[in-house]
Amino acid sequence: MKKGLLGKWLIAGAALATIVTFILVFVTPLKPIERTLEASRWVGRAIVAVLTFGVPVWVLLLAVFLLSVLIWVLARVLARAGDDEEPRFEQYTKDRIFGVDWMWQQAQWGPSSVTALCPTCKNELEWSGHRFDCSYCRKGIRFEADVSFAASPSDVATKEIRRRVRSGEWKQRLSGEQGS
Ligand SMILES: [Zn+2]
Repeated sequence: MKKGLLGKWLIAGAALATIVTFILVFVTPLKPIERTLEASRWVGRAIVAVLTFGVPVWVLLLAVFLLSVLIWVLARVLARAGDDEEPRFEQYTKDRIFGVDWMWQQAQWGPSSVTALCPTCKNELEWSGHRFDCSYCRKGIRFEADVSFAASPSDVATKEIRRRVRSGEWKQRLSGEQGS
C-alpha cells in the first residue's frame, strides 16, 4: 500500500474512532472520562499495530466496527438491567380487592379517589347496598367483603390498600400477581 493512501486510511480510521468514541460516551455506563481514555487507548494501540506489524487497514476498521457493535449491544443489555430497579410505591394505583377492580391516586397521606371499576368495560361502578352494578354493560359484581362495619365499600378498599402497602404485598401485586 502506498504511503499517501495509508495516511488517508489512517485519517479515516481516526475519524471513525473519534465518532465511535463520541457514541460510546453516550451509550456506555462508564464515566465520560474513563470512556474517553479507554477509547483513546484502543485507538492508540490500533495505530501502533498498523504501523509496526503492518496490520491491513480493513482488519483494523472491521475490528473497530465489531468492537463498537459489541459495546453497543452490551450497553443496551446493561441499560435494560438498570431499568429493573425497585418499584416505587407511587406506581401502585390499581388492584383487584375482594373480587372488584379498584383504581386510585396515591397521595402522600395514602390512597385517594378510590374508585371501583367494571372488569369488562372499565366503567365506574354503582354501589346498590349489597353489590356493585355497571350502568354501561348492566353487569352485577359481588364485593367479597363485609361492609357492615365501614361507611362505604370504598372505605373498605382504602383500608385494604393501606394494609397491602404496609405489609409490602403491593410489590407482588404491582408485578402482576393478581388475586382477589
Ligand atoms: Zn361494565
